[in-house]
Amino acid sequence: MQPIYLTFDDGPDPSFTPRVLDVLAEVGMHATFFVIGKQAQRYPELIRRAVAEGHEIGNHSYSHRHPWLVSERTARAEVRHGAQVLSDLLGRQPRFFRPPHGRMRPCMTDEAQRWGARTVLWDVSAIDWGPLGRAERIEKRLGAIRPQDIVLMHDGKNKHNRPEELLRVLPRLLQHLQQRAMRSQALA
Ligand SMILES: [Zn+2]
Repeated sequence: MQPIYLTFDDGPDPSFTPRVLDVLAEVGMHATFFVIGKQAQRYPELIRRAVAEGHEIGNHSYSHRHPWLVSERTARAEVRHGAQVLSDLLGRQPRFFRPPHGRMRPCMTDEAQRWGARTVLWDVSAIDWGPLGRAERIEKRLGAIRPQDIVLMHDGKNKHNRPEELLRVLPRLLQHLQQRAMRSQALA
């Protein structure tokens, strides 16, 4: 089996995260959840469940503000505060950071590194949001996954994400990966 790395951003979400966890558990695959700090504070039991089931939790900032539209001070605080929330829940610092919207900003990468986290983007995006985020289109895009790819998907709605569309194709995607001898693992 060749590894790939499914990642789910913008949760935890009380209606979608448990369903994603159920689908992963059914095939025994693992993923990384890049969570929004204030969502994690609201739904700590979802973080605990994901960890207990062998998934990795990454920092996706405290409140998902756009990295390019805030001061450096705020940008750094977003990383630090997100890491703090997660270290309280995990009992250790998160190992991975992904900036909101995938918008890189050196001060955020630097701040993440200060707290021991590596900044991670992705290779393939499901584009599971907005008008392009329909189940059939998502499934077609995910057909392009190759071994070692990091795949961007969303289990939280935030504003425009469509986890309900993703969930329509996720079980089939995981079966398809198995048939192609690929298996999702948590980032390590
Ligand atoms: Zn996000």
